[in-house]
Amino acid sequence: MKLFKCNQCESEATRVVERDEICRVKGEEIVVHGAVRLCDACGERVFDRALDSAIFQEAFEIYRTRHEMMTPADIVRLREMYDMTQRSLSALLGLGEVTIHRYEKGSIPDEAHHQLLRLIRDPRNMKQVYSENRDRLSPSAQRKLEAALGTLLGEPVETFEHQLQDPVTAALYLDESAHDSAHALLRALRDIVTANGGVSTVARKAAIDSKSLTSVLSEEESRELHTLQTILDAMGLRMSFTAKSAA
Ligand SMILES: [Zn+2]
Repeated sequence: MKLFKCNQCESEATRVVERDEICRVKGEEIVVHGAVRLCDACGERVFDRALDSAIFQEAFEIYRTRHEMMTPADIVRLREMYDMTQRSLSALLGLGEVTIHRYEKGSIPDEAHHQLLRLIRDPRNMKQVYSENRDRLSPSAQRKLEAALGTLLGEPVETFEHQLQDPVTAALYLDESAHDSAHALLRALRDIVTANGGVSTVARKAAIDSKSLTSVLSEEESRELHTLQTILDAMGLRMSFTAKSAA
């Protein structure tokens, strides 16, 4: 049995009553009718996690309705529509890592964040946001979102693989998932080389400076990558492997 104790008079005799409570949400006063715990001796309000949390959830709910805001369930649905994790949606929108998690748990979104969330309910807007910020997502998150957008819009969205045809852009994808990226990059480079006459047409020259990239490749793959780098140099295409691959 949980004990409740009055902060004012230290009495442990309390009771639960229903009454109107005034809550403050984002500077706005909201009246909620609900159960609160009071001290029997002096009548002081006594903290009760479960009851007080219910009162505040109700106040948030009233605030959301009053401002026609998306509910936590709306945000979950939005995120699932795009096949995204809480973390990847936060990243794409440039929000803090746990921001979407908090909103799905019931926190009231900042107004600017809320406007952004409303905006991306339209897949055409989401596509726009994505095309401007795609480098904020890992390659696998990009592929998932592209597939979801493709289905929702009924048209193919420019894909990750397609982007990799451009080696300068490709360097941007060397993020935290360097293992996936390194192999995807290697495949893309092979295609570029094939399209330009093959490996044997170019002399060996430069070495790749990024250990963090080559460490995830086998020795044979590393050699191939070095050769491909040489070819790219000869073609006048520079690539920075160190862009985002801090080990
Ligand atoms: Zn008391």
